[in-house]
Amino acid sequence: MNDLDELYQQVILDHNKNPKNFGILEDFNFHAKGHNPLCGDQITVYLKIKDDIIEDVTFAGNGCAISKASGSIMTTLIKGKSLDNAKKLFGEFHDIVTSDPESEVDFEGLGKLAVFAGVREFPARVKCASLSWHTLKQALENSEETAITE
Ligand code: ZN
Repeated sequence: MNDLDELYQQVILDHNKNPKNFGILEDFNFHAKGHNPLCGDQITVYLKIKDDIIEDVTFAGNGCAISKASGSIMTTLIKGKSLDNAKKLFGEFHDIVTSDPESEVDFEGLGKLAVFAGVREFPARVKCASLSWHTLKQALENSEETAITE
């Protein structure tokens, strides 16, 4: 394991231990549920959106360290952002975790999303990391359906 992998593992452990934006948002106006049957992760994402800006976002639920850390990082990244910006981040996240594990990663350009590059090699973990993002997408579309990773 190289230093970079270790660094990002530490980030995931920290977010799992002290998740940011964890809990039910009181005055949310969008929300959706997500479920990852493979691992058993359950998550709900709550959003307060006003004038196309994500004013507040939280997540709640039960899951493994990666799903929880992912929810924590995801909410941190999209809070205060425009809807277009959040959708762009979702796209960037999706591109990273579905890219060839052998391909080079532009860690600088990715910023905080770079943390997720390490999970590319573990398809089952990709679902854990993706759950919060897929649930976010579902919430933005105001869908009643549960987001299922598959
Ligand atoms: Zn999981």
